[in-house]
Amino acid sequence: MSSPRAILPGATIGVLGSGQLGRMLAIEARKLGYRVHVFSPDRDSPTGQVADVEVTASYDDLERVEAFARDVDVVTFEFENVPFACTQAAAKHAPVRPRGEVLHTTQQRNREKTFLASKGIPVAPFAVVRTAAEFEAALARIGTPAILKSADFGYDGKGQRKLRSSADAASAWAELGKSECVLEGFVDFELECSVVAARGLDGSFAHWGVFENQHANHILDVTLSPGRVPPQVAARAIELARTILAELDVVGVLCVELFLTRRGELVVNELAPRTHNSGHLTFDASVTSQFEQQVRAVCGLPLGSTELLRPAAMANLLGDLWLPHEPNWAAALALPDVKLHLYGKAKPAPGRKMGHLTALASTAEAAATLAREARARLARLG
Ligand code: AMP
Repeated sequence: MSSPRAILPGATIGVLGSGQLGRMLAIEARKLGYRVHVFSPDRDSPTGQVADVEVTASYDDLERVEAFARDVDVVTFEFENVPFACTQAAAKHAPVRPRGEVLHTTQQRNREKTFLASKGIPVAPFAVVRTAAEFEAALARIGTPAILKSADFGYDGKGQRKLRSSADAASAWAELGKSECVLEGFVDFELECSVVAARGLDGSFAHWGVFENQHANHILDVTLSPGRVPPQVAARAIELARTILAELDVVGVLCVELFLTRRGELVVNELAPRTHNSGHLTFDASVTSQFEQQVRAVCGLPLGSTELLRPAAMANLLGDLWLPHEPNWAAALALPDVKLHLYGKAKPAPGRKMGHLTALASTAEAAATLAREARARLARLG
């Protein structure tokens, strides 16, 4: 039974941000009979193409944000760099889920790491660095190898420099030191993984287990589900996610990205207070996708089953694949257990996420092989 506060099908969901995460959310919302309004500075956006209404305005135009929120029943976001003030303006007229405070904590690396450490969640050794003197002190304490990251607006390895030794310090500082940074100890990891989890209005919790993530050039390349980690590691990762969602009082979906060290320990790298690229395979492989779950959670409905129907893998499709010719879609789709998702982006650019492939098989490894095979076929001449 739905709770009395539930926002029921037929109501309107407002989405801040208009990329592929909003697009897939909108597709699931529409399946459930909701209307979708989207707000971002862009036109003909991946989300706008499938939404009922696309509002094009700056996130700083708080009057437009308030007008947008007045027209919807609940507001959520799909982009973590939406300004906090924007979520506060929206909250005057509709519930914002997750709360803007969740976004505020997670959109700045130092706030996020300080929060995690204060809750006893394992993170890499880190230091807040604002001045050259603080950088020097941080280097002396943390040592090398280390990574210097700008504290704001980082994703996919942007705004990061690895320091192999102290000889790399001056150039890294010259590049990034203009704004607040974090210096992080380098984690010698065995693999990278993530837990995408959801928390309902009533505090209920759901997760899709551990995803194993393989990166190329700092961008997610392939995800496997179930991830190949020992059961006790999976259980610990899920408990960490449960604690984080509860401590942040999340209503919605949040992804915890982790490193599994060679010593078998888990270290949290970062949080994304939204659906996540590593969870895309849930669209095809799970009873309830991360996007449907986001709809359910933010609307106060019961969470759906996260059962994995078949082992799966996801391979990202970056704009590079559009060169030297349009990808050969038919060649990839000739593999019947492969599903294609394209985000409706007009301009392929190197490194730009244009879509993904999901492959289903009898094991996650076989699915990853199939996803890679499908992606390789895209390069074939038709
Ligand atoms: P991030 O933007 O923080 O997710 O970092 C992008 C990628 O850089 C991660 O997925 C890792 O592959 C790598 N990375 C980031 N931080 C560390 C670290 N402290 N130790 C080792 N590798 C890291």
